Amino acid sequence: MAPPVLTPAASGAHNGEVADTPPLRVAVIGSGPAGIYAAEALVKQADGNVLIDVFDRLPTPYGLVRYGVAPDHTSIKSIARYLQRVLEHPGVRFLGGVEFGADVTRDDLLACYDAVIYATGAMVDRHLGVPGEDLPGSVAATDFVNWYCGHPDAAGLDVDLSADEVAVIGVGNVAVDVARILAKTADELRATDVPEPVLDLLGGSAVRHIHMIGRRGPAQAKFTTKELRELGALPYTEVHVRPEDLELDPASAALAESDRHVRGNVTVMRDWVGRPLEGRARRLDLRFWLRPVEILGTDRVEGLRLERTTLNAEGRVVGTGAYETLPVGMVLRSVGYQSVPLTGVPFDPRAYVVPNESGRVLGEDGAPMPGEYVAGWLKRGPTGVIGTNKADAAETVRALLADLGGRAREHPSIEGLLEARNVRAVTYDDWLRIDAEEIELARTLARGERVKLAGWDALRHACGTHTP
Ligand code: NAP
Repeated sequence: MAPPVLTPAASGAHNGEVADTPPLRVAVIGSGPAGIYAAEALVKQADGNVLIDVFDRLPTPYGLVRYGVAPDHTSIKSIARYLQRVLEHPGVRFLGGVEFGADVTRDDLLACYDAVIYATGAMVDRHLGVPGEDLPGSVAATDFVNWYCGHPDAAGLDVDLSADEVAVIGVGNVAVDVARILAKTADELRATDVPEPVLDLLGGSAVRHIHMIGRRGPAQAKFTTKELRELGALPYTEVHVRPEDLELDPASAALAESDRHVRGNVTVMRDWVGRPLEGRARRLDLRFWLRPVEILGTDRVEGLRLERTTLNAEGRVVGTGAYETLPVGMVLRSVGYQSVPLTGVPFDPRAYVVPNESGRVLGEDGAPMPGEYVAGWLKRGPTGVIGTNKADAAETVRALLADLGGRAREHPSIEGLLEARNVRAVTYDDWLRIDAEEIELARTLARGERVKLAGWDALRHACGTHTP
């Protein structure tokens, strides 16, 4: 079944009246916050005279809001309600289950639309580059996050929580999320949307001692103070920080004076120093000045070898030649996300972004590629909070409309192309069936507002694209 045809009248252009000029047709690739904020900016900035198709490889919209924001961060997750209103705008259409590069190509989209905005985010993990990284038990935080968020690609991930001690490498907000989810009990997570098999596994977790490891000092940590504070508020976990780790060199001390973010973090951690251990069920050690040099083990992770570090005169992290080994049975590598190249679209392999100027995709000669734009993490790298993508997408859309405003062309229809390829797009109404099933599942299990369906089959079944 081909997706429903959007007509200018259905676009709601100028309050439902057919516009004088034909609407621009724009394809947005990726239905995460960056893509949907781009659709919203298009509707607003083009005064409604635009038809937008938001494509996603998944049958579900909202990208990282659904599959990246931690399940217990319900207020951030509620951004989905805002994004939902954009998808429900009559000029915007969701086409899920359509994979860029496989079901549709760059050339297809450039033929069928006036412009394409790439907004596929940063989907894979950055590598540590140390021996033992690929041992069973060494897990990328991106995979672990996908798993507990119920991403269908991660439903089969072999998560072994039988180790008593685990290490989380990195001191960014993802590391904080991962450590917090590991520290929480199943009861604390029951009201969240984690799939049932995930809740069962977390409930049976043997993890008691979590080491979170920064390769630089507390003043250089990337996590934000609000997120850090949550760790100290966990009822069944005690947080431990060593006084020597919090000693600040003069440059870091100056930073802790001048930078609100650093001051906030250091103040929270100072409060944790010397707290007596009370023997709570779980313990979180926040460590600094340690860089991983090897993940130890033969058949699976048996330890983590770390080198003590310091900052040199240029402020760069260097090893001191002093080592220590942690007897951990699992290592979660939370050292940042990375974008992946899209077939046929320029990509900077060093910065892991699509080269661009204010969102205009740049070709090899540095000149803008007509009709191609980029937004979100694929444009600027994996930084900032979800809201950062709003201004970022608005900038891209300003560039697009400055280039194309009022110059819509005749196009072959995307519906015809998908039909010819036998690609059945998941519509917004199909997604609403998944949505309803997840809400019903939560009701049946007496768990919170929603419980995610686990795995591809369940999603396909719920939205009616399942072929038995
Ligand atoms: P991030 O903030 O860039 O943190 C990455 C961490 O990994 C840093 O501590 C970094 O240390 C460390 N690291 C990188 N390479 C390393 C290596 N080779 N060895 C050891 N450590 C290494 O990335 P993230 O935590 O993945 O977060 C991505 C973005 O999402 C951020 O903007 C974050 O704020 C956002 N986010 C927000 C929330 C929230 O608002 N609640 C939740 C999750 C994520 P260096 O600084 O030394 O490089």
